[in-house]
Amino acid sequence: MGKILDGKALANLLGENLKKKVKNLKAEGITPHFCVINIGDDPASKIYVRTKKRRAEKMGIIQDIYQMPADTKQQEALDLIDKLNANPNINGVMVQLPAPEQIDADELLERIDPNKDVDGLTPANIGRLWMEDHFIEPATAEGIIALLKHYEIPLKGKDVVVIGRSNIVGKPLAALMLEQNATVTIAHSETTNLAELTKRADIIVSATGEALLVKADMVKDGAVVVDVGINHLNGKLVGDVDFDAVKEKASYITPVPGGVGPLTVQFLMEAVVKLTRRQNGRK
Ligand code: NAD
Repeated sequence: MGKILDGKALANLLGENLKKKVKNLKAEGITPHFCVINIGDDPASKIYVRTKKRRAEKMGIIQDIYQMPADTKQQEALDLIDKLNANPNINGVMVQLPAPEQIDADELLERIDPNKDVDGLTPANIGRLWMEDHFIEPATAEGIIALLKHYEIPLKGKDVVVIGRSNIVGKPLAALMLEQNATVTIAHSETTNLAELTKRADIIVSATGEALLVKADMVKDGAVVVDVGINHLNGKLVGDVDFDAVKEKASYITPVPGGVGPLTVQFLMEAVVKLTRRQNGRK
């Protein structure tokens, strides 16, 4: 049976360090401060925004929530981003996705000052990531790399299959894994031979939002399985992986909840502190 990759425990460990870092910054008169813009009423988004807020408070970071109505106009959201970009007291800005239909989310992301881009989703910072000259890393991808490193799971030369090609998870994760010298395959909804690919993989990361997509017969004995998905199935929170069956074959596996999720939140906080330090002339 596979060992559990305990993301929650690692997030708490990292959190203790970050709290100290924030305390030291505060002693110098600097308080990390970021803003989350949430447009509309997506119920999952509201939960994520609150989860971040709780974590920020725990870390000593200030998080402002700008809750905008579902009928917000593009220009209103752009104006808010401009205002936050221009405010020297604000160290980070992010837009909670998804946004309502009338909103061009890409245009909003592009508008964020790359120096305040806590999510690492501005074109400038995505480009830097692929050039191996990081400015900031998207939190979920960085959290997964940190988790594998913490459990001393090597990436060099390993066959990795990332299922999902979103800008938020799949693509940045592929970039970071390549940088660690893994051989990376990115699968997606148009992939026709998913099981064939995953059966060969030393490491499988699934980030699709499709419950029970990854089944035991798609996994090689001893593979490492990382489940990013957050899905509701029969009133239960589950990932993309058929956990009970797959854990019997995997050498390591992340649970849902308690795996990747807490690391995403923690690495967002790390990003806020990183940008704050940089904006204040610290390394
Ligand atoms: P997305 O909808 O932007 O992308 C999903 C990707 O999965 C797409 O590239 C699509 O091609 C692929 N896909 C969908 N069905 C597939 C299938 N049957 N086979 C192969 N590929 C398939 O989603 P996202 O924002 O990347 O999020 C993915 C999942 O991860 C969601 O469940 C989301 O809630 C979760 N998520 C979790 C965290 C976390 O911290 N745990 C963070 C971000 C996202």
